[in-house]
Amino acid sequence: MTELTPDIGAYVSIDKEALESIFRGLKQEGYTLIGPTLGEGAIVYDEIDGMDDLPIGWTDRQEAATYRLHRRDDQAVFGYVVGPHSWKRFLFPPVQKLMTIRKQNGSFSVEPHVEEPPRYAFIGVRGCELQAIHIQDRVFLGGPYQDPDYKARRQLAFVLAVNCTEPGATCFCASMDTGPKAGPGFDLGLTELDDVFVIEVGSEMGRRIMSGVRWRPAGAFELQTMRERLTQAEKSMGRHMDISDLPALLYQNLEHPRWDQVAERCLSCANCTMVCPTCFCSDVQEVSDLLGETNERVRVWDSCFSLQFSHVHGGNIRPHVRSRYRQWMTHKLASWVDQFGTLGCVGCGRCITWCPVGIDITEEITAIRGEV
Ligand code: SF4
Ligand code: SF4
Repeated sequence: MTELTPDIGAYVSIDKEALESIFRGLKQEGYTLIGPTLGEGAIVYDEIDGMDDLPIGWTDRQEAATYRLHRRDDQAVFGYVVGPHSWKRFLFPPVQKLMTIRKQNGSFSVEPHVEEPPRYAFIGVRGCELQAIHIQDRVFLGGPYQDPDYKARRQLAFVLAVNCTEPGATCFCASMDTGPKAGPGFDLGLTELDDVFVIEVGSEMGRRIMSGVRWRPAGAFELQTMRERLTQAEKSMGRHMDISDLPALLYQNLEHPRWDQVAERCLSCANCTMVCPTCFCSDVQEVSDLLGETNERVRVWDSCFSLQFSHVHGGNIRPHVRSRYRQWMTHKLASWVDQFGTLGCVGCGRCITWCPVGIDITEEITAIRGEV
């Protein structure tokens, strides 16, 4: 074991307890750790202090409309897939104050909301989730108007990615080419083996953090085991989506009878958009105090499934559930490509698990293609 600094691109091995020294190093660099932890009957992302807060020995079992926590028969640290939270809640918070407007001497003053951006270290970012962050980068930073709050949070963020070796029943990242191995863009990329973590160093900051950790170059057997587990994971995805004819398939089927069938099941509850790591719609609301002296302008997450979202000067352009579901899926898998040059779905499976009636985006695509 050594405490020298590994090169960027190097694969090193650490004992599992040494993850604590990575956390310590991150805290010394001023990061707030955000990672997986047990809460609300699920594995959620929240502030953590150290390894004791991780869901060690727990896993999640998922199916359409079903999520359950279970004890594992081992002490795996990252032995689960993804839960209801995604990293977007820390880069693009669900409620964000924009400004305060105050009545003043017959006029008013406007105070923009300025706050020190948090310095987050995201622990346990899966391949699909890292790609979702890249997609939101295009949304918030790629056009002529950049979101300053997202930009500040994103620039400061540290990403400790975790490669998936046990995909869940609703996962299909292999179809979307977003996993199970995390693509570039992480600072450290971790693969959990039985006794050690193999870590790929992805950035200068990752290197710096590793300089305080006892590591050794990953052995040939460890690297081989890592590759085999990732290949196996790719073959054991719970779901699959054929994307070869997207977006044309959807554009050619805007009047397909399947939209009526899915609308009979869909509750338009917006759960799918809230849990989706790439959905980015928001509303701006005015919240005034009871005296009408002070008004806060806040940005809140919204959804294309909410009726008021598609209310445009005097009328609603998507008054029926059929048109709202069609808008959501066609945006994800077709018009997103025109808008941002990539699909808007990363195959994380959250919308399948957390849809209360079990509507499955992979099934819907198969049905539309099968019935053409
Ligand atoms: S559409 Fe569903 S599977 Fe695709 S990224 Fe969003 S939540 Fe995940
Ligand atoms: S598809 Fe499911 S989660 Fe999405 S709005 Fe409809 S019922 Fe809700």
